[in-house]
Amino acid sequence: MKRLLKFVFFFLLVLLSLGFTNMPQAQSGFNVTNVNISYNFGQQITFLGQFTSSIPIKQAFLSFREVTDQNTRVVPLTLGADGSTTYQYDASQHLISPFATIEFSYQATLTNNQNVTTGPFYFRYEDNRFAWKQLSDGSVTVHWYNGDNPFGQAALDAARGGLQGISQTFPVSLNSPVDVYIYTNYDDLVSSLTLGGRQWEAGHADPSLGIGMLAVAPSDTQSIDLQQLVPHELTHIMLYRFLGDGFNRLPTWLEEGIASMEELYPNPDYASALETASKNNSLLSFKDLCASFPADSGRAYLAFAESQSFVRFLRDTYGNTGIVALTQAYADGLDCDLGATRAVGVPLNQLEVRWRETVLGQNVAGVAAQNLLPYLIILGLTLIVPVWGAIGIIVARRKNVG
Ligand SMILES: [Zn+2]
Repeated sequence: MKRLLKFVFFFLLVLLSLGFTNMPQAQSGFNVTNVNISYNFGQQITFLGQFTSSIPIKQAFLSFREVTDQNTRVVPLTLGADGSTTYQYDASQHLISPFATIEFSYQATLTNNQNVTTGPFYFRYEDNRFAWKQLSDGSVTVHWYNGDNPFGQAALDAARGGLQGISQTFPVSLNSPVDVYIYTNYDDLVSSLTLGGRQWEAGHADPSLGIGMLAVAPSDTQSIDLQQLVPHELTHIMLYRFLGDGFNRLPTWLEEGIASMEELYPNPDYASALETASKNNSLLSFKDLCASFPADSGRAYLAFAESQSFVRFLRDTYGNTGIVALTQAYADGLDCDLGATRAVGVPLNQLEVRWRETVLGQNVAGVAAQNLLPYLIILGLTLIVPVWGAIGIIVARRKNVG
C-alpha cells in the first residue's frame, strides 16, 4: 500500500491526450467533445466529456468494457450547465486487467425520446505506476522500467530467439502486436496482477490481449533470466493465437510443458527435482495435472519440472507434429486420456509409464510384477494343492488297477 501511495504521488493523474474526435449526429446535433481519460493504475479512472445537442438531453450515460470481456458497465452521468461531465471509476474495488484495452462510448436519451450514441473510443489501461521504456522489432515490443538500454536489447533478443524457436513447432502469428512487460521484482508484478484481478507466481500471460508479464531485475544473469522467461510467456500467447478459444481447454501439463520446453535457457534445477521425486516415489501423476497445478509452491515447481520433461519426451518420440496433434485434440474438447489416444494412439497413463521408464529409468513393469508377486504365490498355492491332490488320487488308482 505504501508503495502504491508513493507512486500515486509520483504519477499524479497522468493525463492522456488521446485526441478523441467524433462526428456529430446530424438529426439531433448530438455530439460529445473534449473526450479525455486519465487514470492512476489500480486506483481510479476518470472519464471526461462535454455533451452538446440541439434537442435537450433527458439522461446521459457512459458505457465501457474490456474489449475481451462481454460484460459492459453502464453508468448514468450528471451533466454540468455547459454539458460537461466527469465520471470517476473506482478501479481499486472493481478490478480491470492490466494493459487491457477499454472500449467506451457516451449515450443520451433526448427529450423527444430519441436514443443517441457517440463512440466507441478506446484506451489502454497501462500500469502507469512505472515509467516504462520500450524497444520494438516489428510487432513485438518489450517494456521495462529498471535497467539500461542493453537490458532492453537483451529482452528483445530473447523475444526474437523465442519466437524463432516456437516457430519450429507452431505457426507464429504476429498480425496483432505482442507486448512483454518486465517488472523488476515479483512484488511489483504480483501487485499489478492483484490490482488487475489476477494472481500468479512467476510470470503471467494474457494471451487474448497479446500481453506477457514477468519479473527480471538487472543483474549479471539478466540475459539468462530473460532467455528463460520471455520465450515462456510468448509461447502462451502464440499457442492461443494458433488454437483460438480451444486454447482454454489445454491440459495444464501440456500448456506449461510446451512453454517450458520453449525456454531458450531451460531451468537447470528441474533435473534434480525430478530425480529426487522419482527416488522418493513422490512424482505427481499427469492425470492430476490436467486441470491445474498444485497451489503449494514446492509441488507446483515439481509440476513444471515434470511437464517440461514429459513434453520434451513426447516431442522426441512423436515429433513436432505429435505435439501439434496433441494440442489440437485437446483444443477440440477431448478429455485428458482420449486426447492423447486420438493424437498419438496411446492413452495418457501409458505415455506416463513410458516416460517414467525411458527418461527416469524407472522399471514400472518390474515394479508392478514385484507388487503382484505375493498374489502370484498365493494363486500358485491354491492351484497346486488341488492338482497335487488329483495326482495323488490318480497314482492311487493306478496302484489299485495294477
Ligand atoms: Zn507458463
